[in-house]
Amino acid sequence: MTNNVQVQRPNERLEFFNEAMKLETDDCIIFSFGTERYGMMYMNDRQYRASVLACTHGHGEKPAGAHAIHGPCNNPRCINPRHLHWGTHGENMRDRRRDDTDNRGTRNGHNKLSEDDVHEIREALARGGITQTALGLRYGVSRKTISNIALNIRWAWLEKRA
Ligand SMILES: [Zn+2]
Repeated sequence: MTNNVQVQRPNERLEFFNEAMKLETDDCIIFSFGTERYGMMYMNDRQYRASVLACTHGHGEKPAGAHAIHGPCNNPRCINPRHLHWGTHGENMRDRRRDDTDNRGTRNGHNKLSEDDVHEIREALARGGITQTALGLRYGVSRKTISNIALNIRWAWLEKRA
């Protein structure tokens, strides 16, 4: 450790995605990278919506003209294949309108951590045996956020629980 320069991890999104596809959960899996409305990632030098790749993973190649539609959840950043299916353009438009309505206000696809979450994450990090990526998945935040907690950057004001 010679300096504090943040090393860019170009494969971070792909690593997160691959970990996410191994999860067996009915909860939303939030792809929280980037500031775009939909999480974007590169695969084979092409840029895709993470939700489209997740839908392909869960339901096979995209049929011609199909769109990745969120089923039970309205979260454009959710990449749980169980929450996605291939649908029609009409369904896609309804999905988008729903998103537009539901995403006004406080919901913006970024999960917030409670103080309890931060304590639990710290304890899990202290115990070891789990990667920052996996912790990020569990709490719906990016690995960077977990990394920041590990480094005590963002939550330094929180006192360690006795
Ligand atoms: Zn979902």
